[in-house]
Amino acid sequence: MIEFQHLGKTWPDGTRALSDVSLQVPRGQFCVVLGPSGAGKSTLLRAVNGLMRPTEGRLTIDGIEFNADTERALRQRVAMIHQHFNLTLRMSVAGNVLSGLLPVVSTGRALLGWFTPEHRRKACALLERVGLDPRHLRRRAGELSGGQQQRVGIARAFMLDPEVVLADEPVASLDPKISRDILALVREAARERNTTVLCSLHQVDLAREFGDRIVGMRDGRVVFDGTPAEFSDER
Ligand code: ADP
Ligand code: ADP
Repeated sequence: MIEFQHLGKTWPDGTRALSDVSLQVPRGQFCVVLGPSGAGKSTLLRAVNGLMRPTEGRLTIDGIEFNADTERALRQRVAMIHQHFNLTLRMSVAGNVLSGLLPVVSTGRALLGWFTPEHRRKACALLERVGLDPRHLRRRAGELSGGQQQRVGIARAFMLDPEVVLADEPVASLDPKISRDILALVREAARERNTTVLCSLHQVDLAREFGDRIVGMRDGRVVFDGTPAEFSDER
């Protein structure tokens, strides 16, 4: 369970990005954070892997408070899927998926030498799971289409068996048909592993179709919290 307690964020330039956000997200939930650009979705998600340091409130994962002492351990339980995929474009597809293990690779070791045959098998199995043809394994990630790159991004995210996956506008740069395929894939992969997903979206129709729950945000505040059916009733 992820618990946000009265979380607030004021950026150094004075921008108020989050105000008094309190939420409990149970293990295994696919929680969509819905709102327009600038609502604070990305800021909220980034609190969960320590990329954003809140200025007020507390964040706990399974009862452990996120702070300087626990940050390193907690980050290893959280993976991220990005809007712009964030692959290393010159690296192979397989290399990108293996790089999902980097949070546990001790510094200074030769990167590729560290991966075991078991790691490689796991990377291949995940790529197969996300529907990427094995022929693509040795291709450079930059040669793939956007939809294929996001499949690689999903495989990389699940490489460490995370308890939490943060998906920050994962389909904002993909067309609608591919967007549905990608969201379905994230949801299924998460269900199989009981992974909690926090997924930011700005499209109402996708939020209603894929969310177990919708948290609506505007100007850094939670303005709706309920099921997709309740969300529809409100309009
Ligand atoms: P969303 O993900 O919903 O588009 P964000 O969380 O990215 O919203 O942004 C919320 C607000 O915080 C916006 O006003 C944005 O410009 C601002 N913001 C985001 N990151 C920073 C930053 N590093 N410094 C200053 N302001 C920021
Ligand atoms: P994306 O949509 O891919 O998240 P953004 O343009 O929202 O990209 O943000 C890219 C980076 O810029 C993030 O690290 C964010 O924190 C930062 N950022 C966003 N808005 C501002 C802002 N108003 N001032 C300073 N940094 C910002």
